[in-house]
Amino acid sequence: MTQVVVQQPTIAAIATPIGQGGVGVIRLSGKNAYKIGCQISQKNTLIPRHAHFAKFLGESGVIDEGVVIYFKAPHSFTGEDVVEIQGHGGVVLQNMLLSRCFELGARQATAGEFSMRAFENGKIDLVQAEAIADAISATSMAQATSAIRSLSGNFSNKINGLLEKLTNIRLYVEASIDFPDEGDVDFLSDGVIESKINEILGQLDDILATAEQGQLLRDGVHVVLAGRPNAGKSSLLNRLAGVERAIVTDVAGTTRDILEERINLGGLVIHLTDTAGLRQTDDKVEQLGIHRAKDAIHRADVLLVVHDVATKVDLKVFVEELLGSDETDRTDEILQKLLVVINKVDLLNDVPHETFYIKDQLIVPTYVSCETGWGIDELIDRLKDKVGFHPPENGLIARTRHIDALKRAKKHTLDAKEQLTVFFAGELVAESLRLSQQALGEITGRVTADELLGKIFSSFCIGK
Ligand code: GDP
Repeated sequence: MTQVVVQQPTIAAIATPIGQGGVGVIRLSGKNAYKIGCQISQKNTLIPRHAHFAKFLGESGVIDEGVVIYFKAPHSFTGEDVVEIQGHGGVVLQNMLLSRCFELGARQATAGEFSMRAFENGKIDLVQAEAIADAISATSMAQATSAIRSLSGNFSNKINGLLEKLTNIRLYVEASIDFPDEGDVDFLSDGVIESKINEILGQLDDILATAEQGQLLRDGVHVVLAGRPNAGKSSLLNRLAGVERAIVTDVAGTTRDILEERINLGGLVIHLTDTAGLRQTDDKVEQLGIHRAKDAIHRADVLLVVHDVATKVDLKVFVEELLGSDETDRTDEILQKLLVVINKVDLLNDVPHETFYIKDQLIVPTYVSCETGWGIDELIDRLKDKVGFHPPENGLIARTRHIDALKRAKKHTLDAKEQLTVFFAGELVAESLRLSQQALGEITGRVTADELLGKIFSSFCIGK
């Protein structure tokens, strides 16, 4: 059966990056895309999915020459008639061609409008649409390949599989409510529904774990470097980034402001913030920096406290001072994200193994030398452990909203189990399973509010 697509007003946009390149592509989609494509390329007809060489005509002559391809609805990216005009990749030429499309009746596409139409016409689901945006904006190979796996439907298939299973149990539960005395079997207590619910819970946990890795992969983690001036914070940042960005000097208090760097540590993107040296000072500028540093520490996922092995200051006292220097007592919260790094071990003959307790927590520092690179790999491993970054072989890209929905689905499924095993309340089991299904449906967009759709697609770039 051929899918019927209601074609919307024609939109057009430059689909390739603005700049100079061999080829630049203008994409048209909508009810007049074919007509406009024929007019610009001076063709009476365009054969679907054929590359036609053409001279592109403007009002006062030929604008450019190149290839035009027609994708007939519904066999196109958006599901509508789509025409791609491939000219030369020059800013002026591309804009002249785009203006010609507007003269012929198209209007400028808004951000994500092509993908939105593809979603509305059932060509892709929401997870796949988001994966397009994530693949395009990927900053690491792991991000890019995971996004492409999500785009290919790996994530959606898992969700759809669960949705189908939930439908099956709901049918089973509904049947047991409607026909309670069928034979000698009590459907609610024969263990079948419970084992099916347990199976779903197990799968939800698996998907949740994969999605949490996918979200870490996509969004990365925020790491704050703190420590006394001259401990080697900037040197550590440079060591991790592999470039000289922060100013490294031996004058205490050089790093006055916050310096942010995005670094890819073997797949884990960290947003690393180098703070002003945390110390009491009368210098106004430096004081401002210290205030901002504390703020950054509270917002961070990991706090890397860097300490100079050669200083006489007791490390435990130093860390306690740092934690206690906050007016509100958030010591426990900060201890959870604390990693202590002792730098400059190249100055010693033997690397010490000093550990200490703060409150009840054992602190095991990581010894490094930013000068030689010694211990840096171990530090990276510990950092990944701290944030639980252990991406599976075939990881997927995921967003906070997916994880939120998966957690809600899990909660409702656990509710269903409780209603079943504790209260034998068939109707409530069915209702909880329905809510679980609804939460999962939000992920792929089967049930999604318009407002959320607008938010998701508006973060795309124009032409996608
Ligand atoms: P920050 O104030 O904490 O940012 O410290 P810097 O990174 O500016 O470093 C202060 C000084 O310590 C500089 O002179 C660095 O060259 C030196 N330094 C940093 N790391 C090491 C290290 O591992 N070994 C030695 N010997 N010196 C280091």
